[in-house]
Amino acid sequence: MSGNTKMLPSRKPTHHLERFSESDLPTSRGLFRIVIFRDKRDGKEHVAMVRGDVKKEGVPVRIHSECATSELFGSLRCDCRAQLDRALDFIAQGNVGVLLYLRQEGRGIGLGNKIKAYALQQDHGLDTVEANMKLGFPDDVRRYDIASEMLRSLGVQSVDLITNNPLKIAGLVDEGVPVRRRIPSRTLTNPLNVDYLKTKRDRSGHLIEFLEEDGSEAKAG
Ligand SMILES: [Zn+2]
Repeated sequence: MSGNTKMLPSRKPTHHLERFSESDLPTSRGLFRIVIFRDKRDGKEHVAMVRGDVKKEGVPVRIHSECATSELFGSLRCDCRAQLDRALDFIAQGNVGVLLYLRQEGRGIGLGNKIKAYALQQDHGLDTVEANMKLGFPDDVRRYDIASEMLRSLGVQSVDLITNNPLKIAGLVDEGVPVRRRIPSRTLTNPLNVDYLKTKRDRSGHLIEFLEEDGSEAKAG
């Protein structure tokens, strides 16, 4: 992929983060190293969960945005907690990889606005994209400069990205992080999140395959 001009970063590397603290962290999936990066602009603390030697090519990486409703409170409106769990499982099983946990709730619009969007969906039958538009937000305001800065600091040479979302690949490459390939992320559907997942697929370009035979599983990338 070197020599392909598409792989060249379109922007200069940013330096918004301070590598603030780190420690070994025993977890239910074995030992990780947790590294905290502080954004000098807003004080937000972004997390890297690191397993094994990641100063090399083709490191499995998941870029995950925080989702309090799903991860803390068990919401069934989205599949964030399942995606987080499966990415950590995958990294633990291969004994190498990085999970970046970015503090950008609700695709970057914040928890309060996310709940406003839920209310619009509930009361007016809008989908995720329409509700965000109505609130004045683009569909996805997440940024990838933070993720690329974290990966550079960790010494990752190139990435095998665990994702369903082609925008994430483009976002990383745009920030100068080579993506070697995509590792599909599988997730389960339920009656409450199937519309959300279909909107992701049909309106936001996510590569999600639904296994309609049993209606119980979605395969996403
Ligand atoms: Zn979520």
